[in-house]
Amino acid sequence: MNILIVGSGGREHALGWKIKQSEKVDNLFFAPGNAGTSELGTNLDAGVSDFQKIKTLVLENNIDLMLVGPEVPLVEGLHDFFAADPELASVKVVGPKKAGAELEGSKDFAKAFMARHDIPTAKYFTVTADNLDKGVEFLTTMQSPYVLKADGLAAGKGVLIIDSLEEAQNSLKEMLDGQFGEASSKVVIEEFLSGVEVSVFVLTDGKDYKILPEAKDYKRIGEGDTGLNTGGMGAITPVPFVDAVFMEKVEKRIIAPTVSGLAKDGIDYCGFIFFGLINVNNEPYVIEYNVRMGDPETEAVMLRVKSDFVELLDGAASGTLGEKEIEFDERAAVTVMLVSGGYPGDYEKGKVITGTEKVTDSLVFHAGTKQAGDDVVTAGGRVISVSSYGTDMNDALATSFKNAAHIEFEGKYYRKDLGFDL
Ligand code: AMP
Repeated sequence: MNILIVGSGGREHALGWKIKQSEKVDNLFFAPGNAGTSELGTNLDAGVSDFQKIKTLVLENNIDLMLVGPEVPLVEGLHDFFAADPELASVKVVGPKKAGAELEGSKDFAKAFMARHDIPTAKYFTVTADNLDKGVEFLTTMQSPYVLKADGLAAGKGVLIIDSLEEAQNSLKEMLDGQFGEASSKVVIEEFLSGVEVSVFVLTDGKDYKILPEAKDYKRIGEGDTGLNTGGMGAITPVPFVDAVFMEKVEKRIIAPTVSGLAKDGIDYCGFIFFGLINVNNEPYVIEYNVRMGDPETEAVMLRVKSDFVELLDGAASGTLGEKEIEFDERAAVTVMLVSGGYPGDYEKGKVITGTEKVTDSLVFHAGTKQAGDDVVTAGGRVISVSSYGTDMNDALATSFKNAAHIEFEGKYYRKDLGFDL
């Protein structure tokens, strides 16, 4: 098979690493990819939202299966675009169509979906400019802290957690006035849930599903989970508190009703579902759905998938996932993200990256990097991730930290306290 992975992050590099191990792969392509993916396969010059260009490249390179990494092209309808075009009829696509991608593309849609299918989640109320008064009043019935979420995609920045009622009421108005552009023309007010978060991933063909290893990611820039939110500073799998009893609750109350709920609603869904969960006194609640794998969780989770991943992807795209087996590596796996100095605020790009050849016993997945002549240089906030196996989380982290120290670029920063709360 010729396989195209759409995207350019560490997630796509890690997916490509896993896919490349399959004997079913003839050629592997990335669009647009990064400096790391060009060593695994061929980078094609197309942005993730440039559907026409992707089509041309898919036809030119006889792509059999396309795996869509990020949410934006899914929410914009890349799968629908392929499904509607007879020239692309034979191309299998892993990633939901627009209707299914609404689980991530609209928080209001996701909340209504969970209410309809009895899936445990925080209480909520959706506000638009037309019912602002009701929203302001609803806030008075909630307790501090107040959770306000932009309905649409906001690159992970659309959630505000506010202590004071007055401030929350003002923020609600500001959001509706366009603080996050079109994404906050609707705002979901949510009950605050207190607990430890965990990410659970499934691959589904719309009927059957396979549960992948769970992971915990670290979003804040500072040690001890302080400072601004980032795209993710690292991840750990397995997560110690996720035992068989907890997972059974997750599967019964959340995963199974989500997959069957999609079918009941007439939404044919093929691809990943990422359940952002919170453990409240050993009871799982859904904080959010994503319709793709997480980044950086993928850079740890892929290490623990032992089965042929292309078999699984092909099964998801062909409606035969129920016939496939999934096996895991029992070892722990972690990833540590090296970021540009200043990130998630302003940072400089174009810093030369050296030392990756000194890495031993870890996998290096590129995120924001690009080739500049003979050099690999930084090209984003999250630059490169170092993933390792270990007998347990601390053993794996020690290997990643040893290797993170070998990789150099001006301004390099990474968190050295991952797993501190586990
Ligand atoms: P989301 O984009 O919905 O995942 O929200 C971003 C982050 O905000 C989550 O990872 C949580 O840490 C936090 N969060 C979101 N919703 C809630 C909630 N209802 N209660 C507590 N924390 C929340």
